[in-house]
Amino acid sequence: MSERQLREAICQLAKSLYDRGLTHGSTGNISSRTEDGGLLVSPTGTSFGRLDPARLSRFDAKGRLIDGDPPTKEMPLHTAFYDTRSTAGAVVHLHSCHSVALSLLPDSDVDSFLPPLTPYAIMQLGRVKLLPFFVPGDPAMGEAVRGLAGKRAAVMLANHGPVVAGKTVEAACNAIEELEATARLALMMRGLPARVLSAEQVSQVITKFDVEWDK
Ligand SMILES: [Zn+2]
Repeated sequence: MSERQLREAICQLAKSLYDRGLTHGSTGNISSRTEDGGLLVSPTGTSFGRLDPARLSRFDAKGRLIDGDPPTKEMPLHTAFYDTRSTAGAVVHLHSCHSVALSLLPDSDVDSFLPPLTPYAIMQLGRVKLLPFFVPGDPAMGEAVRGLAGKRAAVMLANHGPVVAGKTVEAACNAIEELEATARLALMMRGLPARVLSAEQVSQVITKFDVEWDK
C-alpha cells in the first residue's frame, strides 16, 4: 500500500468508527507503520469524523516528527506497542461506550477483561488486559503497556477506553470493534445465566486458529 493509500485508509476507517458512535468528539487516536519504518499518526485535538489525510503527523523511522500536525497526546501508548510487539503494524484507541462501562464494574477480571462469550473475540484479541486508571497523557500508561512485554495485543484502560494493536490498520480496527461488541454482549448478559465458552472450547479455538494467548 502506498503512503497516499495508507493515509486515505486511516481516515476512512476512523470516520467509519466515528459515524457508528464507536468514539465521539475529539476522542480516539490511530497510527500505522509506513513502509519505510516510520509512522502516520492522528494529530492531537482532531475528530475521527474529520481527519485530513494531508495533515496526519508523519514520523520517520527514528521517531522524529517530520511532517503534518502535532501528534496525539497518547503517543507513548502507541510507541509502547510498536516497541514491544514486532508484529504491530497499527494501533487504535477509542473511547467506546460499552467497553468503558464494563471497565467500571468492580468485578471485572483484570487479566481477562472480556468473558469468553464468542470465538471471534478470542481469535482477534487474545486475552485482553485491564489496566488501571491513568490521567490522560500520563506516560505511565505507556510504561504499563511496556510492562506487558509484548504479550498482549489489546488492553483496556479503566474508566477510559480500549487500545488494540494489529498487523494492519484494518485488522486493528476490526479487532477493536470486536472488543466493543463483546463488551456490549457482556453487559447485555450480565445477571443472566449465560452459557459462556468452557475452558476446553476456548482452548480448541486457540489451537485451531493459532491464537497468541498469554497465560
Ligand atoms: Zn483516550
